[in-house]
Amino acid sequence: MSTTPVDTLPVVVIGAGPVGLAAAAQLATRNVPFVIVEAGEQIAASIREWAHVRLFSPWRYNTDPAARALLEPTGWTAPDPAWLPTGGELINDYLEPLAAHPAIAPNLKLGVKVEAIARQGFDKVRTAGRDAAPFLIRLSDGSELLARAIVDASGTWRSPNPLGGNGLAAHGETGAVAAGRVFAGMPDAAGTLREKFEGKTVAVVGAGHSATGTLLALAELPGTQVHWLLRSADPSRSYGGGAADALPARGSIGTRVKDLVDSGKVTVHTGFFIHEITADGLVSADGRTVGAQVIVNSTGARPDYSASTELRLDLDPILGSTRALAPLIDPNQHSCGTVPPHGYLELGHPEDGFYVVGAKSYGRAPTFLLATGFEQARSVVAALAGDLQAAAAVELDLPETGVCSTNNVNAAPAAAEESGCCGTPAPAADAKRGLATGVAGGLLTVPLVTVGAPAEQTGGGCGSSCG
Ligand SMILES: Cc1cc2nc3c(=O)[nH]c(=O)nc-3n(C[C@H](O)[C@H](O)[C@H](O)COP(=O)(O)OP(=O)(O)OC[C@H]3O[C@@H](n4cnc5c(N)ncnc54)[C@H](O)[C@@H]3O)c2cc1C
Repeated sequence: MSTTPVDTLPVVVIGAGPVGLAAAAQLATRNVPFVIVEAGEQIAASIREWAHVRLFSPWRYNTDPAARALLEPTGWTAPDPAWLPTGGELINDYLEPLAAHPAIAPNLKLGVKVEAIARQGFDKVRTAGRDAAPFLIRLSDGSELLARAIVDASGTWRSPNPLGGNGLAAHGETGAVAAGRVFAGMPDAAGTLREKFEGKTVAVVGAGHSATGTLLALAELPGTQVHWLLRSADPSRSYGGGAADALPARGSIGTRVKDLVDSGKVTVHTGFFIHEITADGLVSADGRTVGAQVIVNSTGARPDYSASTELRLDLDPILGSTRALAPLIDPNQHSCGTVPPHGYLELGHPEDGFYVVGAKSYGRAPTFLLATGFEQARSVVAALAGDLQAAAAVELDLPETGVCSTNNVNAAPAAAEESGCCGTPAPAADAKRGLATGVAGGLLTVPLVTVGAPAEQTGGGCGSSCG
């Protein structure tokens, strides 16, 4: 048992993605000792897997204010606020310099995963004195850390939803028959993974922008036959608002996918609840079959709480966010992705000092935006530093998120499981840098992308567009 006073222990941040690093910047700014534990050998390991995808939110929304304040004196130049970066650009032009900052780099542990968390000396049942005990964090290298508080920013990328229509793995999904044939999220089908897809019969599962972005990428490949499997009764919700979409890049994705469907280049299978993966393809619950050599699972992701089963968490039974946050983001009720400002009060658990921020804080809701995560991190860190006034003063400079799925009056709000994230593959690297369109750069009332987004760019990340 440690005799170190708890309040001298560091705050442990789990995950060095954009929100974990923003939390680190906030902690450094407030002189709170911290350690960031990152499972990947490099920071932002999850984003590296979608480095080819162009975000739909321009730079001005993708950097954290505390991080900028740390970086600017080092000679770092903020990228063009109107540019839509790819995931790779987000890493190279912002996250890598931030992680290398002398206030952060010495506190970064790479290549170790947080495997389990408890209160030191307390199992989940024991109460008396619990809140005064440090957190004990067991790492994949066998070592343990003690912490005064935990900020879990581990995202959901590593835990995609299964293909099965009922939320369970489909029969065969975890067996040899599916091994090497199923790609989650938004694989680089027209780029680094091209040989896996070209000339093959491919089934894309899901209704969100990762699915539609993948359909567009596959349509470029000669000899590739594309099937699109949807749980919903018709694909129109995935087409979005087309020319009426407040987000031109997003509107164009839907329009181009509709053209592919209308021209027969993509075959749609609606009401397809996957029951089984076979060597030949997929079988629905009502006995239909679709041949597929390769399958893209774009059904979204869910939070993984397996490391924190010894903590007292109060999770919403539907989404797996906190109960306080759930009504603000539930895709059964909110298709637009707009969310009121929220912070440490909404993100707290009965386990005092444990917070989940970033994409994981949204649980299964597919509408998370970086700007939301930065404000969550700011508020939580302010609370941990004892500055409750700043912690409570949450201000979300989240732009309006543009077209909602309910703009289509015939469409039901998205089921989260069918609305996986996101994006379109980045257009050719030589896409010309556009100029701001002249829309004022105010943060509050203008939709993403139209805020000076370069017209040439076709972004398509997650957030509201997935919902
Ligand atoms: C394809 C795509 C496009 C998107 N586009 C946009 C966009 O345009 N605009 C926008 O605002 N948002 C967008 N998003 C949504 C969101 O902003 C991103 O998912 C973002 O990466 C979330 O950041 P995060 O820090 O919460 O999590 P992540 O980026 O997922 O980072 C989590 C980190 O934690 C690490 N980790 C995981 N488990 C552990 C563990 N047990 N121990 C230690 N480390 C661990 C991971 O390796 C990873 O580095 C997009 C998402 C996707 C998937």
